[in-house]
Amino acid sequence: MTKRFFLPESELPRQWYNIQADMLTKPLPPLNPATREPVTVDDLSQIFARECAKQELDQEHAWIDIPEPVYEMYKYYRSTPLVRAYALEQLLDTPAHIYFKNESVNPLGSHKVNSALPQCYYCKQEGVTNVTTETGAGQWGAALSYAAKIYGLECAVYQVKISMQQKPYRSSIMRTFGATVIGSPSMSTRAGKDIITREPNHPGSLGTAISEAIELATTTPHCKYALGSVLNHVALHQSIIGLEAEKQMELAGEYPDIVIACFGGGSNFGGLAFPFMRHTILEGRKTQFIAAEPDSCPKLTRGEFRYDFGDSAGYTPLLPMFTLGHEFKPANIHAGGLRYHGAGVIVSQLLKDGYMQGVDIPQLETFEAATLFARTEGIIPAPESAHAIAAAIREAKRCKESGEQKTILFNLSGHGLIDMSAYDQYNNGELVNYSYQG
Ligand SMILES: *Cc1c(COP(=O)(O)O)cnc(C)c1O
Repeated sequence: MTKRFFLPESELPRQWYNIQADMLTKPLPPLNPATREPVTVDDLSQIFARECAKQELDQEHAWIDIPEPVYEMYKYYRSTPLVRAYALEQLLDTPAHIYFKNESVNPLGSHKVNSALPQCYYCKQEGVTNVTTETGAGQWGAALSYAAKIYGLECAVYQVKISMQQKPYRSSIMRTFGATVIGSPSMSTRAGKDIITREPNHPGSLGTAISEAIELATTTPHCKYALGSVLNHVALHQSIIGLEAEKQMELAGEYPDIVIACFGGGSNFGGLAFPFMRHTILEGRKTQFIAAEPDSCPKLTRGEFRYDFGDSAGYTPLLPMFTLGHEFKPANIHAGGLRYHGAGVIVSQLLKDGYMQGVDIPQLETFEAATLFARTEGIIPAPESAHAIAAAIREAKRCKESGEQKTILFNLSGHGLIDMSAYDQYNNGELVNYSYQG
């Protein structure tokens, strides 16, 4: 019984897949909030690397070359294994075949580095010297710090002040890669100063951190802002996950009936799902696509489809998306990466068009699933990824009831080894459910 499927180096994908080009209904354009006109590549490249801005708005090219130097860096940790979860199947006593794509095995511990590398590479190519971003849970900040160092860029990360205090190891990781980590709100920007003057003990939020990072990028020469989720170009880079998985499923002799990933802004979901979804769009292949979100932050199942800002301060273009409102304050659940108010533009259109569905998972069910997974497969998953595991377990149990032998594929977006305080709380019986009360 083969348990893990790898691709030889010669089989690694050389192009990313851009689902926008194949979508029958194209996503609506992002709008400039001042003029209500569609934003242009020029507008976006004031904040982002120009190549990323182009990719963001590209509805024409389905395949985009992975630059050779990025491909060379991918080789350090790709392909990631596709694993058949025999032990989990056995414990659940299900006829379903369960596979997971293990994106936790790179040294950064999550899928985020797949996009951090190309974003920093394009910055370097375009003469940028500094990158900046915000981070809440810390996975994106860690990935960007590493990628910046690889391409010789300075990196400044605004980390939500309260998470910096609660999760000190996250900033240790970023500093080890050479980044400057600043607790937000800080005195280093006008936005930060304004907040601190009004409220000296402000704990910080993703909103304050995004505002500070964007301000730094727009007021510093040769400095760009980089985002680790939500945007189309991030999902594009993450398609490497699904393109590999497609070839690996072939090695396993199967094609998934159900594809599942957890959902924050949609990058690991899109990354795994879109390459499979192209067969649904182009060939009518029947596959079920499930995005697993927290019951406390259910933008896919209970959000509204409309234009909204991507950040709480209202600095970004207006994006057409399923949203709980940019001023939504999420409950303090441990899956920090899933506490975002909106869904990416592509995913929002696909959900509207019925290609995929969302499911909500309560916090305790995610930790039950995580524990089951740890005790069978030997990997402690990130609390974010545990939402995908919980959704996969629900489907596997359904197969047991109906006797159907479906093939389930889910993404393990990251490991949870720096989230052990969350597991301690769960094991001590201190965790509770927070359900969204619209
Ligand atoms: C950031 C993060 C997520 C959520 O982001 P998406 O863009 O929705 O993928 C999920 N899992 C892990 C481990 C993360 O770090």
